[in-house]
Amino acid sequence: MQLIADDNIHAFYVSPLWLKVSAEVLKEQHYECQRCKKRGRYKRANTVHHNKPVRQYPRLALTKDHLEAICKECHYEEHHGQPKGFVNEERW
Ligand SMILES: [Zn+2]
Ligand SMILES: [Zn+2]
Repeated sequence: MQLIADDNIHAFYVSPLWLKVSAEVLKEQHYECQRCKKRGRYKRANTVHHNKPVRQYPRLALTKDHLEAICKECHYEEHHGQPKGFVNEERW
């Protein structure tokens, strides 16, 4: 993924390719938050999370096996609810 190699994560997230793949992931996972689902709750997913941080695994950025439909709250928790000192490489 050249965009990531160029250290332009933002360009990746607005690229038509990512928009297409993320839309497909949401659809395939029935617009259901996979984290809430595990907790026995239903919540509509509106974003797609990379289980493998994009910067560390640029080749997996568009691999659906590593993409997860997730709601805003769970996504925030995933990225900001980490213990102090944890460095999250992914911006989204
Ligand atoms: Zn959720
Ligand atoms: Zn994420």
